[in-house]
Amino acid sequence: MNGYSGVWVYVEHRNGVISNSTLEIMGKARELASKLGVEMATVLFGNDVSHLVSTLAEYGADRIYLADDEALKEYKTLPYTRLLTELIESNKPEIVLFTASSLGRDLAPRVAARLRTGLTANCIDLDVGCFEDNEKGKRLERILYQIVPAFGGNVVATIVTPYHRPQIATIRPGTFPVPTKAPGRGEVIHVKVNLRREDDKAEVLEVKRDLQESELENAKIVVGVGVGARGPDGVKMLKRLAEVLGGALGATRPVTDAGWLPQEYMIGESGKTVRPDLYIACGISGAMHHMVGVRNAKVIVAINKDPKAPIFEAADYIIVEDMFKIVPKLLEKLDRKG
Ligand SMILES: Cc1cc2nc3c(=O)[nH]c(=O)nc-3n(C[C@H](O)[C@H](O)[C@H](O)COP(=O)(O)OP(=O)(O)OC[C@H]3O[C@@H](n4cnc5c(N)ncnc54)[C@H](O)[C@@H]3O)c2cc1C
Repeated sequence: MNGYSGVWVYVEHRNGVISNSTLEIMGKARELASKLGVEMATVLFGNDVSHLVSTLAEYGADRIYLADDEALKEYKTLPYTRLLTELIESNKPEIVLFTASSLGRDLAPRVAARLRTGLTANCIDLDVGCFEDNEKGKRLERILYQIVPAFGGNVVATIVTPYHRPQIATIRPGTFPVPTKAPGRGEVIHVKVNLRREDDKAEVLEVKRDLQESELENAKIVVGVGVGARGPDGVKMLKRLAEVLGGALGATRPVTDAGWLPQEYMIGESGKTVRPDLYIACGISGAMHHMVGVRNAKVIVAINKDPKAPIFEAADYIIVEDMFKIVPKLLEKLDRKG
């Protein structure tokens, strides 16, 4: 579409560190930008964040739109939305990517709505190519393929935004690997922050940190808790297993719905995406909704007492056994070793 060019990534950071999920998306953005023959840029908002510019350049940003201002210290929906919308309107990127974190899920749809463009949430992959619109008899170039699980994860759908720009997508953390460094031009463009009274309708009272966020998504070993754990005692046993292995605990949705573990432990379509070296699924049936969150695990070990459990089709190693018999034995061995 005329006048729109470039792939942008909205940068998330916490305590002065860029989130891994932002770096993951930057790797994919770099790939898309090079296929399209355009620049990859990042948008960095915050207070005292200019030191992050060098990292963004190291990971391939050709441009960094930097708004560093006291007024942007805490994330607030309205001022961030207005600033970013105006930045996009004046610079016209063709693609804008966000992490599907709580911040990205709040900011991206608001920006998309103000720009009257489309948004695809929770993508599990992205690519670019052309789109044949058979109804209108048109062939459109430079289209972002926004790939998402649909119909309960049974189908993978490719969504396109053919007639509006920019094309906006949110991507689940852990979807792509953190890329190797490949420096971009790193040109810094300072963004003027002119907030208005109407931007300040909400006050941030407290910021509560989601302790699990980075722990689970970055863990090399994840122990998955399913309904087979039967309740808090089973969870306690599996928590011990995760600790002994130096890993993190994750769960299926019924487990978090039942309150055996907080919601941020949920893995799957409605929860987190993990990419550990080892995923040990304990008492988990293997529903598609759950499995989309572990599809990037290198090795899956499944413990289930039902020999016909669907998870065995996806697992690399299967243990057909009652987990209350096998896990204590495993712990005993690991304890003896350690
Ligand atoms: C729109 C939508 C979104 C959803 N999103 C998610 C999501 O993001 N994440 C998610 O996880 N789910 C999600 N779900 C739910 C999902 O479809 C499944 O219902 C859920 O994953 C099943 O959890 P489970 O495997 O723990 O339980 P179950 O399916 O009940 O399986 C329990 C398993 O434990 C085994 N078992 C029982 N006792 C033992 C024992 N003592 N030892 C060993 N094995 C034992 C059983 O054989 C069984 O296979 C979603 C559902 C919907 C409709």
